[in-house]
Amino acid sequence: MKHLEFDYVIVGAGSAGCVLANRLSASGKHTVLLLESGGSDARFWVKVPLGYAINVQNPAVNWGYQTAADPGLNGRSTSWPRGKLIGGSSSINAMTYMRGLPVDFDDWEAAGARGWGWDTVRAVYDTAETHSELQDFGRQTRGDGPIHVTDLSDQMSPFSRVFLDAAAEAGYPVIKDLNASDTDGISYYRSTVRNGFRWSSADAFLRPAQRRTNLKVLRNADVDRLILDGARVTGVALQQRGAPQIVKARKEVILCAGAINSPKLLQLSGLGPAEVLRAHGIDVVRDLPRVGRGLQDHLAVSYQFKAKTPTLNNILGRRLGRLRAGMQYLATRKGPLAVPVNQVGGFVRTAPNITVPDIQLYFNPVSYGLSASGDVTVDATPGYQISAQPCRPTSTGTIEISSPHAQDAPIIQPNSLETDDDKAGAIAASKVLQRFARTASLRAVTSEAKAPDLMEMDDTSLLQDFQNRASTVYHPTCTCRMGRTVQDSVLDEKLRVHGVSGLRVADASAFPNITSGNTNAPTMMLALRAAALILEDA
Ligand SMILES: Cc1cc2nc3c(=O)[nH]c(=O)nc-3n(C[C@H](O)[C@H](O)[C@H](O)COP(=O)(O)OP(=O)(O)OC[C@H]3O[C@@H](n4cnc5c(N)ncnc54)[C@H](O)[C@@H]3O)c2cc1C
Repeated sequence: MKHLEFDYVIVGAGSAGCVLANRLSASGKHTVLLLESGGSDARFWVKVPLGYAINVQNPAVNWGYQTAADPGLNGRSTSWPRGKLIGGSSSINAMTYMRGLPVDFDDWEAAGARGWGWDTVRAVYDTAETHSELQDFGRQTRGDGPIHVTDLSDQMSPFSRVFLDAAAEAGYPVIKDLNASDTDGISYYRSTVRNGFRWSSADAFLRPAQRRTNLKVLRNADVDRLILDGARVTGVALQQRGAPQIVKARKEVILCAGAINSPKLLQLSGLGPAEVLRAHGIDVVRDLPRVGRGLQDHLAVSYQFKAKTPTLNNILGRRLGRLRAGMQYLATRKGPLAVPVNQVGGFVRTAPNITVPDIQLYFNPVSYGLSASGDVTVDATPGYQISAQPCRPTSTGTIEISSPHAQDAPIIQPNSLETDDDKAGAIAASKVLQRFARTASLRAVTSEAKAPDLMEMDDTSLLQDFQNRASTVYHPTCTCRMGRTVQDSVLDEKLRVHGVSGLRVADASAFPNITSGNTNAPTMMLALRAAALILEDA
């Protein structure tokens, strides 16, 4: 068995892990090992923005998790893809870039994560981003950070303009940049795309660091568990292509395995709810009742309509159209393949007395069918889709190991729509979609609804339909949350595991609460601050 030794060992080369690998190795003073279960991200459909639809189902780049039967979703077991390759989920996600609302981070601070309020995290975002924006006089860049965020509205389907017209007509502000604004509004989404290619966390952070001799990256390296000496973590046990290895961490192990696998690894290592560990014959090193508890995710419901005017279906639903789009992309890195699926959207309030936006919207100028196995077939005739997601659900779920064996998937129980607030949120979200569908702007371009017909539904049937069809927006978080004590959290405000030394968790599982929007940007921000905290302590 091989034995390696590094100052810092990072588990998982995803959105967070790539950031940490870069920042912890930057000074050259520390040796850093980055361990990734998956393989290379040098794949055509990972790089092409529209390839998203393919990667979501591809087992070669995806953990392909399936939830337990979820009572709130009428007992449905739903698909939860997570990236399993360099870049992690940032290499297979839909690339929508959303910082989150200021209130999300002020709530982090209020939950005990001191130093994570909006004013602090905004400064981190400001230095991390470069925006490529469209001005009246052409394209301009703002900022000089490693995360490239691009306004692709010049590449989008002309149909997407209708969504903005509908928003204005429905009384929602139409704004220029959802990340610049502290308020609600609808806009063209900006994406982590650069020069026509996906710009993952690996592109932003790992690639520029890989020439450093003090950083080593091991792919196809499955970490099985942490190695502990009492309550101090001293390393990890892993298998690389079936060969067992032990890696020693002189300073710290940093778990960046994501919101499903970080709590799983803690539990497998004897750090978790005592009753869960004992049920699987695992010795309890520390009883940490919140490990794997408090899971939060976003759910969205979508409705599709047939359109009277051309949409992306006129191109992507037809062989010749796909061929032309493919040739355009290969020749210019532009056109329909260069733009992610979510073109327009933003945040709205469902009632004037609500102080912050409570629904996020997604509008796509394309309609499609999904097979039972999740394969996407784009309709041959024009259509579009409108979707809504409650921003801050209050129901919480769990991640629990299913056995003491690292190779077995954990049990994911989302407990969706458990609270009355979340049921009301589901109805409110669907009613916002009805409000959009009723606008003259959308009615003018719509020939008929694809089943089920949103406009035919009252509150009861809206909720039933949400329960029958809503699906994850792929944002699991909070399964090792930061907080104050071992009773309310897993981590302190410096992301150290309560009562355990030599160990931090720095990924989406550390969120004290889910942010209102998409979770990739806040995960990279969290990792940037985590690196600063680790280096301060070093
Ligand atoms: C299909 C999809 C679409 C999404 N769309 C968007 C979007 O448009 N915008 C947005 O903001 N967010 C989106 N998200 C969410 C966002 O990408 C995630 O919140 C974010 O990437 C989470 O980062 P992470 O570092 O916590 O985990 P990940 O990026 O998932 O990284 C975890 C890494 O750890 C590795 N790993 C796990 N276990 C082990 C182990 N035992 N040993 C070694 N390595 C291990 C994994 O293979 C993975 O590479 C989407 C996610 C998915 C899956």
